[in-house]
Amino acid sequence: MLKEFPRGPLNLSLLLSHTHWDHIHGLPFFAPLYQSRCRLRILGSEGARKSLIAALTGQMESTYFPVPFSRLPSNIEIEELTDFNFGIGPVLVQAQRANHPGVTVGYRLFSPTGIVCFFPDTEPHRGGDDRGMLDFIHEADVLILDSQYDRQEYQTRAGWGHGCVDDSVALALRAGVKKLVLFHHDPDHDDRKIDALLKHARALVKKQRGKLKVEAAREGMTIRLGGPKSR
Ligand SMILES: [Zn+2]
Ligand SMILES: [Zn+2]
Repeated sequence: MLKEFPRGPLNLSLLLSHTHWDHIHGLPFFAPLYQSRCRLRILGSEGARKSLIAALTGQMESTYFPVPFSRLPSNIEIEELTDFNFGIGPVLVQAQRANHPGVTVGYRLFSPTGIVCFFPDTEPHRGGDDRGMLDFIHEADVLILDSQYDRQEYQTRAGWGHGCVDDSVALALRAGVKKLVLFHHDPDHDDRKIDALLKHARALVKKQRGKLKVEAAREGMTIRLGGPKSR
């Protein structure tokens, strides 16, 4: 980001799903925080037993981190979601509660070139039978969805707030999603395992003669919205 925009003000917005460690502990290492030209607006739900501000700034107290939040040179605003419908520039954003411990949301972004849904941590109800979720992700161009486990692993982890690949595919097919991105990979899964899960997901789509495209999320991945006609 800093290389792409080397000069001038940086106006950034960050949407947080929730305050579990794996979603917030990259923040103290986010390089733009250390530049006075950066203005960062962080939006998210409350931190369950703490406010969002307390959850985010607490992890930069001296017990955990050398630079306190109050000493950062950038201008940071932390806002707890009160309205689940809002706008960021030309993008309309909607939030919805996810099925995950604590207070967790997913987002739907209506951009001029397509709809993106981001549900990093949620446990779909078995067999894709989840009306609210189906409505929320209906005909999304891209759905980035928690697909942490394979079906077998899920048996012993049901109720932990994460989903399995089979349920993700069923949900995306029923909702008429165009592209599903398997996300929130299990820390115990290596690249081979993720490749196998992706193959399995694509086979499930083929078996149902679906048009759904499936990818496994990876670092540095770029998805262009709007198809070949867009510029
Ligand atoms: Zn979580
Ligand atoms: Zn997570």
